[in-house]
Amino acid sequence: MTAPILQDVLAAVPGQQLEMTELAPGVPASKENLATLWAHVQKNEGVKYTFPNGCAVYLTSPNSIHRTRVDLRAEVLGPIVTTGSGEIRCHTRPRLCIETHKNTPEGLLQCFRFAKQSLRQYNEQGLCSNCRSEDMVIPPWRKLKAVGMPYCADCMIVAIMSPPEADALQTPAKRTRRSRDSPSGRRSPDASQRTRRSRD
Ligand SMILES: [Zn+2]
Repeated sequence: MTAPILQDVLAAVPGQQLEMTELAPGVPASKENLATLWAHVQKNEGVKYTFPNGCAVYLTSPNSIHRTRVDLRAEVLGPIVTTGSGEIRCHTRPRLCIETHKNTPEGLLQCFRFAKQSLRQYNEQGLCSNCRSEDMVIPPWRKLKAVGMPYCADCMIVAIMSPPEADALQTPAKRTRRSRDSPSGRRSPDASQRTRRSRD
């Protein structure tokens, strides 16, 4: 779910789509070079590549029920986190985003582009700070912030659709009366006791 949203957002922001005519400086994204790297990837069902920022990319092409590896998946993982409490602790990498392409040289290029774009977005914007409850899932999910926004796309959508808070629905008269009680509009029990004592 996360991957299509990320791609949709990137597609909608001019200049954000990563062009990849070169695999690396001086190394063109030619058919020959991609075929060489794709053949290397086929030697294993999955390989994890780590990066200096602590993230990792897990490239997998799992066997399907028909024993043919039709898909190539790029799973972007964050730096290792510790979850659980007490004796039950788990050191694991959270998932940041996943995208699946055809298990072909062209699909490998799509995986490279997706992983590179995701890691760049991680470096530039970091992770959504609003998704901590996802720690209960194993492995936990951490989501990249939506481009130019303070939270991930899912948290943004929840915030956008949330109804206004109860106070905002009060009539103007009620709001005025409540705002006289205390700056926040709610009088705490301690505050009311202090008021009574001062009157005595
Ligand atoms: Zn979020």
